[in-house]
Amino acid sequence: MSGINISIDSLDREIFKNITGHDRLPEILKGIKNLQDLQFNNIKINAVLLNGINASEKDFDNWSKFIQNNKVDFRYIELMQTGDNLDYFKKYHISSNFFKSYLNKNKWIYQTIGKDAGPSINYINPEYKGKFGIIAPYSKDFCKSCNRLRITSRGDLRLCLFGNTGISVRHLLQKDDQLSELKDLILKQMQFKKESHYLELGETGSTKNLSKTGG
Ligand code: SF4
Repeated sequence: MSGINISIDSLDREIFKNITGHDRLPEILKGIKNLQDLQFNNIKINAVLLNGINASEKDFDNWSKFIQNNKVDFRYIELMQTGDNLDYFKKYHISSNFFKSYLNKNKWIYQTIGKDAGPSINYINPEYKGKFGIIAPYSKDFCKSCNRLRITSRGDLRLCLFGNTGISVRHLLQKDDQLSELKDLILKQMQFKKESHYLELGETGSTKNLSKTGG
């Protein structure tokens, strides 16, 4: 294992408990400490930005304090609309620009994007061990350098997290000697990959919720 992604929607124990339904923040923080003691360096922490819940300056300050002494990449992900969350989306969506303004105001420095970079726009500060990042799916050009494909838990290939095209590859995930056939099929499908998710038009594809789609 070369990297780990951990979801922590708030560093406030009560807020964390309300969002997740579990009062387990201390255990997770202890787990991170254990990883660090083992010199495990590639730790990413994600939180979904939720208006009125974990998106205040106080929340941002809490994360600042945390990453000052912890070498982790912390990223806020802007809430995305999916097939079954329209009411929730309308209630809690907030633009990631709000967090971006906080970073600019507090002298965080935009880090230019490497060739193999993921979707996160990162910010560094020489006085901090960790980094901040923003995953802003509604920003211009978010999909421009997309290098992602997904396989759902049922074995369907999705060309985009929010796509409604793609076919089942389950029958080619059974044995090692099917690898070249699987590669051929995936390559043929690539011509159908769209240049954007079109979420801004309310097109959420066939993804009802993101927990059903793997990485
Ligand atoms: S094209 Fe789809 S999978 Fe790629 S970055 Fe955009 S939303 Fe994500």
